Parts: sequence; C-alpha cells; structure tokens
Amino acid sequence: MVKLPTVQFTEEQEKFRLEVRSFLQKELEKGTFNTKCDSWLSGCNPSFSKLIGEQGWIGLTWPQKYGGQERSSIERYILTEEFLAIGAPVASHWIADRQSGPLLLRYGTEEQREFFLPKITNGECFFAIGLSEPNSGSDLASVSTKAEKVDGGWIVNGSKTWTSNAHDAHYMITLVRTEPFDGVKKHNGLSQLIIDLHAEGVSIVPIKYLTGEHHFNEVFFENVFVPDNRVVGTLGNGWKQGLAELAFERSGPERILSTFPLLEELIAELKRQNDIEGLTQVSKLVAQLWSLRNLSIGVAKVLEEGGEVAIPAALVKAIGTKFEQSIPEIARLLVATYPRKDADRKLDRLLAESILHSPGFTIRGGTTEILYGIIAKGVVAG
Ligand SMILES: Cc1cc2nc3c(=O)[nH]c(=O)nc-3n(C[C@H](O)[C@H](O)[C@H](O)COP(=O)(O)OP(=O)(O)OC[C@H]3O[C@@H](n4cnc5c(N)ncnc54)[C@H](O)[C@@H]3O)c2cc1C
Repeated sequence: MVKLPTVQFTEEQEKFRLEVRSFLQKELEKGTFNTKCDSWLSGCNPSFSKLIGEQGWIGLTWPQKYGGQERSSIERYILTEEFLAIGAPVASHWIADRQSGPLLLRYGTEEQREFFLPKITNGECFFAIGLSEPNSGSDLASVSTKAEKVDGGWIVNGSKTWTSNAHDAHYMITLVRTEPFDGVKKHNGLSQLIIDLHAEGVSIVPIKYLTGEHHFNEVFFENVFVPDNRVVGTLGNGWKQGLAELAFERSGPERILSTFPLLEELIAELKRQNDIEGLTQVSKLVAQLWSLRNLSIGVAKVLEEGGEVAIPAALVKAIGTKFEQSIPEIARLLVATYPRKDADRKLDRLLAESILHSPGFTIRGGTTEILYGIIAKGVVAG
C-alpha cells in the first residue's frame, strides 16, 4: 500500500493562499459572482474563467512556454481549495485545467501542446470529458462510438452521454473504438481523439438537472471528420491513457468540498443562534473534513512525485463524496430552513442547491461501488 505523506505548507505557499483568497473576496464583493455549491462542475462562467486566466491561475503547474507558471501541485491544490471554499464559478475551465491539459502534456504531440495549452491558460478554451455512452458507464471499455480511418483522418459515428458542460466547451477528449473488438479484450483497440465540438456532424442535446439547470448533455457524432493530428498519444492506447486521466480526476479537493459553502454558512447560522448543541455536532463534520483533506493533499503530493495513486485516490473519492453528501442532510436537521434556489437567505439557497446536486456526487467520476471494488482488489493484491 502507498504511504501518504503529511504535507506542511511553506510560508510562501500560505502567502499564495492569502493572495488568492483576497482576490476572490474582492471579486465576490464587487458582484462578479455569487457563492455557489458544486461550483466546479455546475458553475460555468466563461468571463470569470477569462479573469482567472489573466491572473495566471489556469495551468498553474504547466511549463511557462505553454503559458503555465511552473508552480507546484501543492500550490495548485491551495488555489483550487480557495475556489471551492468561496464557491467561485470555475466550471468552464475546470476540466481543461485538471485533466485535458495534463493529458496533453503527458501524451500529446508538440503541435497539440503549442496549439491548445496557451489557449487553455488564457481562459479561452474549454474541454469536456467524452467517456460515458448510453450503454457504457461503469463498464467503460464497452464503448461503441467508433472512428474509421479515411484519408488524412478519422470519421466518427456514435454518441456520448452525461457530458458535463459540452454546450460550453470547445473540444472533447473522446474515447472511441479505432479497431473492432478482437474477441479477447475489450480494452484493446480504444483511442482518444480531440473532437472539435463545433465541427460539422456534432449535435449537443441538453439533459436538464433536477433543478431545471442545463448542466450535462447528450452529444451525437454523425460522420464527424477528425484530422490525424487530433489523435492523442498512441492509437489503441486509449484505455491506459484514460486511466492516467482518472488519477487526476478522483482525489482533488472537489471530491470533499462541493458543499463546503453550505457548511460554512451553517456554522455562521448556528453561531448567530448561539446553538451550542448544533455547533458540537458540526464540529464532528469539521474533524472529518480535516482528515479527508490531509488524505487528499497526501495524494496530490504523491502524484506530483510521479507515484502510483489509483487506490488512495479511489479511497478519497469514495469517502469524500459521501462526506459532501452528508452536509445537506445534517444541515436540514439542525436549522429551520425553507430550501429554495431563489431564496433570499443564503442558507436556504445553498441548501437547495446541495440537496438537488448531491445525488450525482457519488456517481460522477466513477460510482462508489466501482471504487470499493478497486480498493478491495488493490488491498488484496497489494
Ligand atoms: C453530475 C454528473 C456528471 C457527469 N459528467 C460526465 C462527463 O462529463 N463525461 C462523462 O463521460 N460522463 C459523465 N458522467 C457519467 C458518469 O461517469 C457515469 O454516470 C458513471 O460512470 C456511472 O455509469 P452509469 O450511469 O452508466 O451507471 P451504471 O454503470 O449502469 O451503474 C448503475 C449502478 O450499478 C452499479 N454497478 C455497475 N457495475 C457494477 C459492478 N461491477 N459492481 C458493483 N456495482 C456496479 C453502479 O455502482 C450503479 O449504482 C457524469 C455523471 C454525473 C452524475
């Protein structure tokens, strides 16, 4: 089993945290955004992403030649923690920053890096994740969207579903079958293509949330031409590359902080009511959060050092997303509220958002049951 390190922030890193916090606080006060729960996946705001790009805060760890700042992944962790704590609308650039850019850095061609990464760091180019299909979710290797070789590229036919923010994104890193199933292993013959979501033959159909919001989509491909220079990495290596992408996806602060703005407001409300009993109960949540955070930062450190994190990352996501879900459950028992998305009282609004968004926390990025399987097999094997 991987031993996770304990990370102590340096003075420089704490200074960076304060710089980010004070910037976000000022923008909040100016009215640039409203605090929101689940802001990393459902808070799309392209102009806010542009502003964050101007600060140099997208692709923070990437090489300077592509617009990055070459800072550490711990600093990136601090940055994302501050975004989530204040509930800033960072969803437009989140996927490109978290996984598409790092994937291109690892497997992309120089031409792809030079073309995409500076646009991403400027906050002008957003990506979507093209994995799930109507008949492929947990059993992802069964994807049937296929790409057939033609002169100069590939013709793609099929569809993806539950695609977060595809309507706001410019490109999708899409897992497709480039070779027919060989009858041996479904994982063979899969490849990753960068598909331009504005290309001819792509149609994006909204699937509305419980809240009525447009967050995810069905995406259909009908004879979509993808040039050869948009293949990521090695043809047929899509499964392995996709798994590497998931490591970036599973263990970040977004797996424990999606409902943090509600927790903070709950504490403020209990303090206003001088409810010592309620505050005592909430202190247990805060202790859990602190332990989860240490685990999550430990995984970020091991990732930075190039270590293997599949199992601890699955563990953080499995426990962290249950924790996020527990906050609205506990909040509604501790204070009298009338949760409504358009409520004037902040607590009511954040509670409504959390209740309506939280069912997805333990599904997106791999369901809890699948994660338990990964953890169990890893422990037995390890
Ligand atoms: C908010 C949200 C955003 C999303 N965004 C994206 C996105 O941007 N891009 C994208 O590609 N996908 C996205 N998804 C889809 C998500 O990845 C899938 O929903 C998820 O992988 C589960 O697949 P499924 O829905 O097909 O469920 P299924 O795989 O059909 O699972 C149904 C149930 O069966 C259980 N189950 C399945 N197999 C096993 C097994 N072997 N052992 C035990 N239990 C099992 C599951 O745990 C689950 O409870 C998103 C989902 C949500 C909720």
